[in-house]
Parts: sequence; C-alpha cells; structure tokens
Amino acid sequence: MKEWFNKIPVEEMISWRRHIHENPELSYKEYNTAAFVEEKLRSFGNIEIVKPTETSVLGILRGAKEGKTILLRADMDALPMQEESDVPFKSKVEGVAHTCGHDIHTAMLLATAKVLSELKDSLHGTVKFIFQHAEELNPGGSQSIIDSGVINDIDAAVGLHIIPNLECGSIHVRPVGAATTAADGFFLNIQGKGSHGSMPQNGIDPIIVGTQIINQLQTVISRYTTPGELAVITVGEFKAGDAPNIIPDKAYMSASIRTINDETREKVEKRVKEIIDNTCKTYGATYDLDYQRAYAAVINDKTVSELVMDSAREVLGESMVKEAPLTSASEDFSNYRQIAPICFVQLGGGTAADGCGFANHHPKFNIKEESMISGVKTEVQTVLNFLK
Ligand SMILES: [Zn+2]
Ligand SMILES: [Zn+2]
Repeated sequence: MKEWFNKIPVEEMISWRRHIHENPELSYKEYNTAAFVEEKLRSFGNIEIVKPTETSVLGILRGAKEGKTILLRADMDALPMQEESDVPFKSKVEGVAHTCGHDIHTAMLLATAKVLSELKDSLHGTVKFIFQHAEELNPGGSQSIIDSGVINDIDAAVGLHIIPNLECGSIHVRPVGAATTAADGFFLNIQGKGSHGSMPQNGIDPIIVGTQIINQLQTVISRYTTPGELAVITVGEFKAGDAPNIIPDKAYMSASIRTINDETREKVEKRVKEIIDNTCKTYGATYDLDYQRAYAAVINDKTVSELVMDSAREVLGESMVKEAPLTSASEDFSNYRQIAPICFVQLGGGTAADGCGFANHHPKFNIKEESMISGVKTEVQTVLNFLK
C-alpha cells in the first residue's frame, strides 16, 4: 500500500469512463472527447495543454526538479459498430461504440495525470500524457503526433491496452522484442486477354498468371526470411472466370502479410512486388497493385519493459504480473519507437466467469471497471520509478 493510493479518483474515473463510453466518436472525429479531456486536465491546475492535432491532446506535467521525460499514451477513438452489451451506460450513438476499450484507456490516463499532478513536488523530470486520436484507422494518429514535434524530447513511452479474458487487474508484458506483428497486405488486379477456351493461343490467361504468382509467393517466407522468425503471407482471396470454356480477361487476389522485424518487412515487400512484376511480364499480362502498409510491429524495449514490470509488481504484487506472448493484433503505438524506447502493456479486464469473455472489437465487449485501478497504479508507479 503506497501513500498515494488514496489519491486515485476511483469514482470520478469511472464516471469519466462511462461518459466517454456513452458518447463514442470515430477516428479523426474525437472533438468532444478531446474537449472533455482538455477540460479535466485543466481542472487539475498544473498541467500545460498542447494540441498536437485537431482531435488529440497533450498534457505536460513538469516536476519540481530537472530530469528525464516519459510519455504515457491513451487512445480515444471508438469503432464503427453497434454495441450489444447490456451496460447501463451503453453507447448513445447509433453504429458507434467503444468496443476496443479506448474509453477505459482515456479515463485511466486522466486519473493517472490527476494523481501525478498532486505529486508534482516529488517528481524529478517531466511527464507527457498523450491522448491520441485515431488508433483504429490506418495510417493511425500516432504518426501525426510524432510529426508535430511535441514529443521529440521523450526518453521512453508506455502504453496500456485493456484486454478481456485475462484476470481482472493483471498486467501482461512481452519483456523484450515484438509484442504485436506488422499487418500489411496487397490487392492485385491482373489484366490478361480473354479468349475462347478452345483457343488459348489468342489470349493471355490471367488464371495461369495468378496461380504462378501464388506459387512463387510461397518461396518468399521459405527462402528469403530467417527460419524461426515469424513471417506469414496468406493469399486469402483469388477470383477469376465464370465458365469452363472461356479464358477470362482478368483475375483478382488479395493477401495479408505479417512480420515482426522492420528489415524483414522491407525485404518481403520488395520480393512480393518483384514476383508480381516479373510473373506478369513473363506472361504478357499487366497489373494494378495496391500494396498497403498498416502498422509496424510493436517492439518492446528490454529496459523499459523491466521498469514497467517491476513497477507493476511493486504496486500489485508478484502474482499479478506476467510475461505476455506475441499477439497477432496490430497497434499504431508501434510508431513511438521512432523517437524513444517503448513498452506496450496489456491490462486484464476480467475473464469469461466475470462476464468479460468477449474479445476487443466484439459487439458484446465488456470489462470489469476495478481493473482500471490496477492500470492507474501501474502507470503512476512506472513514472515515479522512471523519474527517480
Ligand atoms: Zn481496436
Ligand atoms: Zn485498441
């Protein structure tokens, strides 16, 4: 039990969370949520406010003494879906819901800011609280915050994500390396030349071109990436043709590509593009390729992860802190590693037995609000230990 535990504004935090939950806003449209956050931060009395973009808010708390700077991040956007949970503070907005828990992240970070603002005199250094917009929509809000330059001076960044199906209030950290994968992919139209099925010499068969591409793609992981390092290419869609006796004029495919290392990511993209280009040329087909890069992998820094795990153990007890496996989800928190070492943390929101068995992005997503107290304790202690 730390002396500052009683400074955690538990009831207020829950009311903030419920207010945000009832009034969800989509990515890049978090105007009211950002205004709400700004008003709360202002009310704490000693937090400077900066607006890196229209719908994001940065709070800056300068400690009494000089020292390092740490960034804590919460995302604020909701998803375009209908909520189906039975909570009394259900979304009031048709077709928009906080089913990823970003309402929880926002309320927790406000509570953390409030506690730390009261501990200002004992802080050696600066805390930056970033309330980020648009995590759910590519290219993601984090890049525009980085590009705005307002967090260039940070020495570490920590972000928490609530996850159902994990013990309420438990903390899970991937101690070093990839915590999530990069999720890229492509959409490819192959233009051949249609012909009668009995006269292939008059056509360019896009089915042959497409299947050759799919076969060649199987060699990208098996021959060009390091054995044992996670990398996946899945062509999940292939469409061409309507009848047995017609060579169609076009084919379409789309694929999903996962990697956990920036270098491999580059290499795979280059090789996939070469295979598509060369194969189409070989058969005289043309193509239109839309290769999409989504979020990079979150790669946890060993030192920052140790700091977070030790801090969590200090306030929650040994048994509540666990090593997390790599998850295949993706997160734009990964971008912050362009400027500083990062640690992405999972916070358990309760199990199926607690009524919290539905995953993030499920219409019945739900968590136990008590878990938020663990999140705040972990955030506050991490800052106190980092700025010692
Ligand atoms: Zn999400
Ligand atoms: Zn999320």
